[in-house]
Amino acid sequence: MLTLRNITVWDTGETIDLVIPDADAARLFTEDGAVTDGEFDATGLTIAPGFEDPHVHFRDPGQTYKESMLSGCRASASGGYTNVLIMPNTVPAMDGEAVEAGQPGADEVLGAGYGTVIDYLQHYERAHGTALPVRYDLCVCASKGRAGAEASDPSKWLRYLPNHGDTGKDEYQLAHPVTAVSDDGSAVTEGILDDVLRNVKDSGLYLIEHCEHHDTGAVNDGPVARELGVPGIPEDTELRIVARDIAKARDTGVHVHFQHVSTAISFDAIRQAKAEGLPVTCETAPHYLALCDEDLLRYGTLAKMNPPLRSAADRQATIAAIADGTVDLLATDHAPHTLEEKKLGFLEAPNGIIGLECAYAVCHKVLVDGGYITDRRLIELMSVAPSRLMGHRPTDVAALLNTSSKCALRRVLDLGAVEHPDGVDLVVLDTRADWTVDPERFHSKARNTPFGGWRVTGRPLATIIGSKLVFSRIR
Ligand SMILES: [Zn+2]
Ligand SMILES: [Zn+2]
Repeated sequence: MLTLRNITVWDTGETIDLVIPDADAARLFTEDGAVTDGEFDATGLTIAPGFEDPHVHFRDPGQTYKESMLSGCRASASGGYTNVLIMPNTVPAMDGEAVEAGQPGADEVLGAGYGTVIDYLQHYERAHGTALPVRYDLCVCASKGRAGAEASDPSKWLRYLPNHGDTGKDEYQLAHPVTAVSDDGSAVTEGILDDVLRNVKDSGLYLIEHCEHHDTGAVNDGPVARELGVPGIPEDTELRIVARDIAKARDTGVHVHFQHVSTAISFDAIRQAKAEGLPVTCETAPHYLALCDEDLLRYGTLAKMNPPLRSAADRQATIAAIADGTVDLLATDHAPHTLEEKKLGFLEAPNGIIGLECAYAVCHKVLVDGGYITDRRLIELMSVAPSRLMGHRPTDVAALLNTSSKCALRRVLDLGAVEHPDGVDLVVLDTRADWTVDPERFHSKARNTPFGGWRVTGRPLATIIGSKLVFSRIR
């Protein structure tokens, strides 16, 4: 039993005692010297609903040298996340089609006795005899093989949706449903967009759009690209997809969620669409609010991503869009690659950086310390808002207190006594922690981050899923 005395509830400001009776023995992991039981003075710490991320890449199956389900889920728990949505650019891609022997990545799926990547990922714990520390949902490809040539076939993936034949499903299938459609890594191609939107609408899901299309270029177009001698990506490559899909959202009523928005002109278009009442939402990622293309000169390919880091003015516009509510939520686009791959130079190195284990701190440093938003708003952007997008119910700490603890001088939230313990997902935060990012201490397999050595503020100290402790760095 771990008792956290004097912890502050994130939204009401009430000071309570939090009792965590159990650790999830199979899933629990800790950092050196961390405690998992006893009494702890938590004065100044905050209890909040667990972070959720609708945008992660775990490279499993097919590229587990970069990341695996286990390392990705551990990275999530150590970053304060309790639930993630896994993007479909696995190898093979997550399109619901039967995996064929000989296909890249096929051995892992077929060898474990499963016929599709979705079946394999749903049953990952059973297939590997392991326990994954966080919850996860799955995102199905918009196009077959994520190749952009033809829309994926709903008859191959509808059965994985929640409320589709649930009585015949096992616990793993029920726990890890398909909840969104995306071709992340690429925008949905023009030729199949109408087919994809029809599939999304008929299935009742939403479209997650990687709003960036360019055939050439490796970094943001501008003085930095010229200085590096690398072909540039114009800023309107993003707006073209955003504007196209806003028009489609207007025509079809389909909810489109824009990933990793990075330019002032895209935020303006989204702002307008929202004022019009259209069903669009958007996210941005920590790197777009903390960095700009000038940082390429310092970090090299560790700052290469897609969309690319844009201008300093776009970075300010991203922060402004967070502050004025145009940005609905913060996601990481956690994209593991090896450092060998990242050393290939600007033209050849793969896009993306990992983010789960320092996202909260980087955002806290820039947004809260910078005076743009409050601690409470940052928690909304990382837990409440993504949770709702993903169709979950964020844990309401104040409501739990009201039903389980009445009329005391200092109220106690005993997670052993709450009514629906399975649904209680929480993160313990030290909003004032001052620490230095050390990628060597990450639980991810990957180290591709430009934030190594950054002095940041705010840190998740413990992660609780289903009322049980799964991660601790409390000491
Ligand atoms: Zn993307
Ligand atoms: Zn992505």
